[in-house]
Amino acid sequence: MKSLRTTALKEAQTRVSPEVKAPSPKISEFFGSNVFDTKKMKDFLSKDVYEKLIAAIDRGELINQDEANHIASAMKQWSMSKGATHYTHWFQPLTGSTAEKHDSFFEPSKDGPIEKFAGSALVQQEPDASSFPNGGIRNTFEARGYTAWDPSSPAFIMESKAGKTLCIPTVFVAYTGEALDYKAPLLKALNALDKAAVEVCQFFDKGITKVTASLGIEQEYFLVDLALYNARPDLALTGRTLFGHMSAKGQQLDDHYFGSIPERVYSYMVDFENEALKLGIPLKTRHNEVAPLQFECAPIFEEINLAIDHNQLLMDVMEKVARRHHFKVLLHEKPYAGINGSGKHNNWSLITDTGKNLLAPGKTPKNNLMFLAFFVNTIKAVHEHADLLRASIASVSNDHRLGANEAPPAIISIFLGQQLNEVLDEIEHSRISKKIKEDNALWLGIPKIPQILLDNTDRNRTSPFAFTGNKFELRAVGSSANSSAPMTVLNTIMADQLVKFKIEVDKLIKKGEKKDIALLTIIKKYIKESKDIRFEGNGYSQDWENEALSRGLANVKTTPVALDAYISDKTTELFEKNNVFTKRELHARHEILLEDYYKKLQIEARVMGEVANTMVIPACIEYQNALLENVKGLKDAGLSKESLETPLAIINKLSLHLGIVKNSIDEMLEERKRTNAIEDSREKAIAYDQNVKSHFDAIRYHADKLEQIVDDSVWPLPKFRELLFLK
Ligand code: ADP
Ligand code: MG
Repeated sequence: MKSLRTTALKEAQTRVSPEVKAPSPKISEFFGSNVFDTKKMKDFLSKDVYEKLIAAIDRGELINQDEANHIASAMKQWSMSKGATHYTHWFQPLTGSTAEKHDSFFEPSKDGPIEKFAGSALVQQEPDASSFPNGGIRNTFEARGYTAWDPSSPAFIMESKAGKTLCIPTVFVAYTGEALDYKAPLLKALNALDKAAVEVCQFFDKGITKVTASLGIEQEYFLVDLALYNARPDLALTGRTLFGHMSAKGQQLDDHYFGSIPERVYSYMVDFENEALKLGIPLKTRHNEVAPLQFECAPIFEEINLAIDHNQLLMDVMEKVARRHHFKVLLHEKPYAGINGSGKHNNWSLITDTGKNLLAPGKTPKNNLMFLAFFVNTIKAVHEHADLLRASIASVSNDHRLGANEAPPAIISIFLGQQLNEVLDEIEHSRISKKIKEDNALWLGIPKIPQILLDNTDRNRTSPFAFTGNKFELRAVGSSANSSAPMTVLNTIMADQLVKFKIEVDKLIKKGEKKDIALLTIIKKYIKESKDIRFEGNGYSQDWENEALSRGLANVKTTPVALDAYISDKTTELFEKNNVFTKRELHARHEILLEDYYKKLQIEARVMGEVANTMVIPACIEYQNALLENVKGLKDAGLSKESLETPLAIINKLSLHLGIVKNSIDEMLEERKRTNAIEDSREKAIAYDQNVKSHFDAIRYHADKLEQIVDDSVWPLPKFRELLFLK
């Protein structure tokens, strides 16, 4: 089969990009054309029902049966006019990808077949979805799961060559009401946040009645030629290369970052962007990333629930469109060892219904007090629940990134930039409240915050959670993750923190303190209490690890241990109090995450064994045989002993590495058998990490050495230089 690599290389070198045509030269003319957006709602709905739907979207008001029928019928009409024949509830189960189950509009009736979409089918469905992960929430005898319409995310049409389907974004819950997906808890967290943030806003502005979180997700990814990908069983089955010596040229010249985009890639980007834009995903930015064949795209930020739906949809579109271009898009956090990994930066802020970004410093001192309140509460929330935030980004694939030398470390810290650090220090050390009380001049007590922050451009790229001018950026999220997990945590801890803040401020006011002084007093207290989480230096350095340790910050490097934070008493109380997760749901999620962890390692271990045994070792033996032939020939020709030295030395070296590879594979297999017998998921996951995964490095190291020795023409796996530099 070594010819698979050869044919793949030939194929990859002769690719012709398909022609890409934008639906119109102006994006504004086709943006959202596949979305049942407010404009189309207006066209297809009666005025009454339109207003009801808008109220449901904006304020979560309920829609009755008649209205649902009317809306369903309008959606059907619109989508059929665009060529849709089927509809589906579109949801995000805990598998990590999105799920659909298509039904056709077509229905037989006594007057002959008709096309039908009833309100009941829009509002709720019961997919036979018993094999989605549920962590024990559903027994087989009560396996029912329901999908329920989320009107706040608009319906859209998914297009493919074969046909078009109307997709209805939904939550996915068990018969008992427990969440089985990512969206349901996120919506609950956003609800808690809205309430808590509005309460705090009332200290400053009585006109604010709603606060939403905004999210802009930067998505990093790698591209690889489809034929080369298919010639690598490790990539195809695990999403990453388990073998492969580093290419002589990697990213050391920094010549890829922001460089000109290769033509073939450019054509792919434009193609998937067009599809995404039609789906209302406001993609704005595209560029090369640091590693060869690594890229990034980013949309304009949106309301968070929509932003996450859009990101999930985008990943799907990127994968589908890649096929047309004979690419495979790699969303794995670390497809190539020794080369930068991929993340998904989550840019987050809070925006009021009056249009104010609560994390943007204001023009007046009064606005700045409001800014400081939300800013400092965010820091305090992250300080309180850093372990939970760490847990929310933990996965087997993200473990390769966190703590590795080119990604945010597994230590959660916050970067603020010099100016804001100085502001916080000043508040902390000043005797503001005393001074203010005397002078009755509060506003002089608040340090000036420049509206345009210098650090805005001077980013610290090594921080997992950075303030970037008017938003916080959580950079530790993995490229393949559903952002809902960390965003559910972030918004819940923020909601919880704001509730506590309000209580503390109110207490002081009740005691007779002036409101502004009460606010500032608590802000000052929080600055002091959360100081340890602030770090401005190089997050990748060993110094920081040491310092973080002395500060008492957690540095949990592996997923199974990081996940403990999901079921601690503190977390359970937090989520129950804010009505986001019940204890049972948390335990279910914990179980699912652990299972996901060890199952993926199990697959990696199996693939590693198979590729080593059936591809790497046979190739080495083939080359060894050729060398033996050579030695024999040299001997027969009567050549001196010295002339045999080189081939014999190579044969020796091959044997040495081969022996280690084979032994390690066998040991790993034994270890896997032992580990598989462990019942408890946490124990099993830890054992998979410590006893099975621990063999990966040795196997790989020696296999990669072999790659460097064996005749290139018999090596079966496409090499890094081919995967990364063929454009
Ligand atoms: P970079 O971080 O690569 O320099 P930007 O800061 O311009 O890029 O933007 C990154 C993402 O942050 C984009 O998706 C952008 O829309 C988003 N963003 C900008 N402002 C906000 C905000 N207030 N809230 C949430 N996301 C935002
Ligand atoms: Mg960014």
